[in-house]
Amino acid sequence: MQEPEPRPTSRLLVTCSCCWKAFLYRPEHFFNGSPAPSPECHRQARAEARAESTKLIAAAVIAAIRLNKEKIENSPAVHSKVAESLKLAEMIVSKMKNLG
Ligand SMILES: [Zn+2]
Repeated sequence: MQEPEPRPTSRLLVTCSCCWKAFLYRPEHFFNGSPAPSPECHRQARAEARAESTKLIAAAVIAAIRLNKEKIENSPAVHSKVAESLKLAEMIVSKMKNLG
């Protein structure tokens, strides 16, 4: 028979794989269950995904307006208007986050 492992005495640092929050577990809590993301992580991930798609839609609408009648091609003018549109959409989304 093998000797059983000694009882853990130090705390264990576990980092969440989705939000990188760190949690310190006491030895008596090691065997309560497997580490898993909290429901808060899923909520936060969904909110971030929503903000990303909102930003994409806003940027597309702004770009469509800014590129009105412009020839859509791989040109610096088109690239710069798309970049500006994305920047404006990001400003709008971050303003909304601050208000909400
Ligand atoms: Zn997390």
